[in-house]
Amino acid sequence: MTQKDLKIGEKAIIKEVGGEGSLRQHFLDMGIIPGATVKLIKYAPMGDPIALLIHGYELSLRLADAKNIKIEPIAAEADPDIFPGNSQRPKISEHPGLGETGKYHSRVHENPLPKGTMLTFALVGNQNSGKTTLFNRLTGSNQHVGNFPGVTVDRKDGPILGYEGTTVTDLPGIYSLSPYTSEEIVSRQFILEEKPKAIINIVDAGNIERNLYLTMQLMELNVPIVLALNMMDEVIGNGGTIYVNAMERELGIPVVPISASNNEGINELIEHAIHIAKYQEKPAVQDFCNKEEYGGAVHRCLHGIMHLIEDHTEKAGIPIRFAADKLIEGDPTVTKALNLSQNENEMIEHIICQMEEERGLDRAAAMADMRFSFIKKLCSHTVVKPKETKEHRRSKRIDRILTGKFTAIPAFLLIIALIFWLTFNVVGSWLQTLIEIGVSNLTELIDHGMQMIEVSNTIRSLVVNGIFAGVGSILSFIPIIIVLFFFLSLLEDSGYMARIAFVSDKLLRKIGLSGRSVVPMLISFGCSVPGVMATRTLPSASDRKITILLTPFMSCSAKIAIYGFFTSYFFPNNTSLIMICLYLLGIIVGIFMALIIKHTTHKNEAAPFVMELPNYRMPGAKNVGMLLWDKTKDFIQRAFTVIFVASIIVWFLQTFDFRFTIVSNSHNSILAWIAGLIAPLFAPLGFGDWRIITALIAGFMAKESVVSTLTVLLGTSALSTVLSPDGVAALLVFCLLYTPCVATIAAIKRELNGKWATFVAVFQFIVAWICAYFTCLIF
Ligand code: GDP
Ligand code: MG
Repeated sequence: MTQKDLKIGEKAIIKEVGGEGSLRQHFLDMGIIPGATVKLIKYAPMGDPIALLIHGYELSLRLADAKNIKIEPIAAEADPDIFPGNSQRPKISEHPGLGETGKYHSRVHENPLPKGTMLTFALVGNQNSGKTTLFNRLTGSNQHVGNFPGVTVDRKDGPILGYEGTTVTDLPGIYSLSPYTSEEIVSRQFILEEKPKAIINIVDAGNIERNLYLTMQLMELNVPIVLALNMMDEVIGNGGTIYVNAMERELGIPVVPISASNNEGINELIEHAIHIAKYQEKPAVQDFCNKEEYGGAVHRCLHGIMHLIEDHTEKAGIPIRFAADKLIEGDPTVTKALNLSQNENEMIEHIICQMEEERGLDRAAAMADMRFSFIKKLCSHTVVKPKETKEHRRSKRIDRILTGKFTAIPAFLLIIALIFWLTFNVVGSWLQTLIEIGVSNLTELIDHGMQMIEVSNTIRSLVVNGIFAGVGSILSFIPIIIVLFFFLSLLEDSGYMARIAFVSDKLLRKIGLSGRSVVPMLISFGCSVPGVMATRTLPSASDRKITILLTPFMSCSAKIAIYGFFTSYFFPNNTSLIMICLYLLGIIVGIFMALIIKHTTHKNEAAPFVMELPNYRMPGAKNVGMLLWDKTKDFIQRAFTVIFVASIIVWFLQTFDFRFTIVSNSHNSILAWIAGLIAPLFAPLGFGDWRIITALIAGFMAKESVVSTLTVLLGTSALSTVLSPDGVAALLVFCLLYTPCVATIAAIKRELNGKWATFVAVFQFIVAWICAYFTCLIF
């Protein structure tokens, strides 16, 4: 029987994990190992993927992959996840704090690091364990947190608040040190190559078994490490607890219970971290294999290999225990770095084969099993687990609707519709009117003031028709954009984003993508730059490329300004309807492109989908507030830099001719001449006026500048003088689809390469032209 055949609510024990390569390794690293108990929780509305409960957390995977997992059903009442030690709770003693009654910090009198060495810390942990929240606490910065596996996709550095000479680096979440996605590679490389002075390993205490799996591998790196047990508020709130002192004793590293979001235990954590880094206190325990278990097969194999490779690891500068582990798991990077002779390679292969035979498991599974059985033993007398947490019960209730068979898709559509309705109609529009009135009053006031003190007409024109018209025209869109970001961040923070991926996986597979691709695309509705960055969470390179290619088709928030500007003039009664149509069109074109790509270049099968479904969480007001403030700042900054400069340049080029005399009619200006050269290209689309062309070119800098540029160019004349009502539709379609802004192109170049970035720029231009042409024919 395989995992695929299990029914909802049924439990089973895993017997064998099939499949191959890095996906299988990822399964093992996520705790899908022989002997573990699984329970089937639900099917996605379209019947695939499924969600399992394993080691106390929800994991989703596809039926096709579940087929490779052999299981044996057990009675539903059996509950192996509850540890036997729970019945006899030892008395909870105070955590002794720094010094651990002298047990762990023994080296207070030595000073192994040269004076003035920068104490560098790597913040490492599973996805969604609270790394970014802790990072913000430690450094006082405001990086974005989200309740979605894979929000932090790049590393960020900052000094610990109040401690000079320290740097913490927030790394993307990883589940193990065998790299699976590109973000995992970022983390692993940082630890191995940049050699931080210490590691702060953050662990979700509510999900401790799976989290400790990474901890053990980190300890093998022989770098000072402190364990931060995060989310202790939830553990204790549910009647569970962790015996910190006992855990400390067994692991031989300081263990500090904290709650990053409630700011508890942070100071103690900092003190421990600085202490171990300063005195270079390495983990006291690294030998996790058990001599007594299964005849000690894994133990003997590991130690045998360690003896063999000792000289090589010293030369290569790789921690020996880590090297031996990775050799057994067949990690190609480590194997290459060690530079072993053929003889040694053969000997090692021999040892491993012998172990596989004695242990009755293949090498990867044997290693995962060795680690998990250590964890199980450790947790059995240090962790008191509640039967089911409040948070999980609540999540299950919410999920009954949001991932229910008949309710999931209507709920999704309703939520998205609600977001757009609230953004554009309810909150956005009246705030927008308010700002518009403010800007126009201010402009009048300044103009009046300049007239009073008799400023020259040219300067006055620059200020009023250039700067105020340009920058002012887009300031009014701030409320809408901020409100949209607010809702998107709620989606992310609450944990709903992961469900969207779960629900949509089957549909997206039809166009050659996986459910994970939905997240970058949703983020792109806010801004394409983070959207493109978020594709790093995708494990397959071809998935990433296609997703990156499609994200710019999702209408970003800066384009709202463009739509608003044109529709409010030409179709004042149908603005919302047209906006919705444009958003939908972007999605449809995206799907269409994906299908073309799928049937032409990328015929490969969809990448695997293995993802944690975190419990729903109430988004923190502070987090959301900070994010919104960040976005507002960002937008205003752009308005006063890019848009400001662009407005001045446009004003200048349309005010002067080539002899730098002021023109009476802007048709004779430098700008009209330049844009006139390109105009024929757009004539078939119905908007060949040089002012529109200029605006489109400016839009390449930042999409909002289409509006600011056009406002400057129009001056007092009406929009209808440059654009006929027939051309509007085609122009809107063109704006929706054409070449993304430079920031996005730069992000694509960073993520892929220059060739791809150029390709995207040209590709989107052509697609936009074609679509606009057809629109022009229809309307
Ligand atoms: P990362 O993916 O590891 O960077 O995790 P984040 O910092 O983005 O946090 C993931 C989620 O956990 C967010 O929804 C946080 O609000 C939440 N969170 C972080 N720390 C705590 C904590 O101590 N207690 C509780 N209850 N939630 C937390
Ligand atoms: Mg993060």
